[in-house]
Amino acid sequence: MSAHPVQTQPPNIARWASSCSGTTYLHERQGDAPGPDVLVTALVHGNEYSGATVVSDLLDSNWQPANGRVTFAFCNVAAFDRFDPLQPDASRYVDEDFNRVWSAERLDSSEESVELKRAGELRPFVARATHLLDLHSMHEPSTPLWVTGTLQRNIDFAQALQTPCQVIIDSGHQDGVRMRDYGEFASPEGGRIALLLEAGQHWQASSVAVAKNSLMRFLIQACSLAKADVPVGWLVPDGAPPAPVLVTDRVVAQSMDFAFTSDFTGGEVIAKEGTVIAVDAGHGIVTPYNNCVLVMPSVRQLRVGVTTVRLGRQVQ
Ligand SMILES: [Zn+2]
Repeated sequence: MSAHPVQTQPPNIARWASSCSGTTYLHERQGDAPGPDVLVTALVHGNEYSGATVVSDLLDSNWQPANGRVTFAFCNVAAFDRFDPLQPDASRYVDEDFNRVWSAERLDSSEESVELKRAGELRPFVARATHLLDLHSMHEPSTPLWVTGTLQRNIDFAQALQTPCQVIIDSGHQDGVRMRDYGEFASPEGGRIALLLEAGQHWQASSVAVAKNSLMRFLIQACSLAKADVPVGWLVPDGAPPAPVLVTDRVVAQSMDFAFTSDFTGGEVIAKEGTVIAVDAGHGIVTPYNNCVLVMPSVRQLRVGVTTVRLGRQVQ
């Protein structure tokens, strides 16, 4: 499978390695007034650098919030450092997916991996945050998405941002816990907010623009700053949020002989129940109901056990 073209250059983040926070590639910005404790994360996946470009730009501008604290973290820098534009899909992680290790069981274990070590460094900052914005991008060119989990407070927060990104309500992955589902972020009690942005295809310039707008809207909604104080050029006009999609099923590859029946890119609505959308080792994968929405179909990271597509229905 040929890689998508790399239209944007990886940001130079080496200057963010040292930090007075005591944790490499993690920087805190403090406002004068009390307020939320926001954590903005980029490079959870090493080849998804649109968010890192945006965070680096904001740090460069000496921006600080009006209220509370905003912490910026470049997460899986070890994977990012291996980014090769000739093999751009190869640097998602080093040993394992950084976004599948976020259970106390994994984090407290004696297992060793590059990602577990880095997650251990960032864990206190994830645990203290009242708001988490996790900046990602997608394997395929697709309409930007907010991945909210299933809690209504996150769905409401995302819809209130007035972006054209579709809210995807899902419960996570079989192969491990995401950072946005860690600890109290997944608790029905309390009010902690955690959203994951899928800004568009990893290396398209539009994904940087989507991440910029989404970051500022998140900070406004969290009350880190007023809309009037957003730096020039960071916001685009309000968008109308489409109806959220509730993920009901995940298609997990059972073999390496997995292929979609069409070049799906995500957002397709398959009208008829029972339509074959993929074949896995000769076994047809069919839509379970009418008007089934395909969410982030991709076989770029294909291996047995990996999610190849989520299936969902629109909710009002
Ligand atoms: Zn990602």
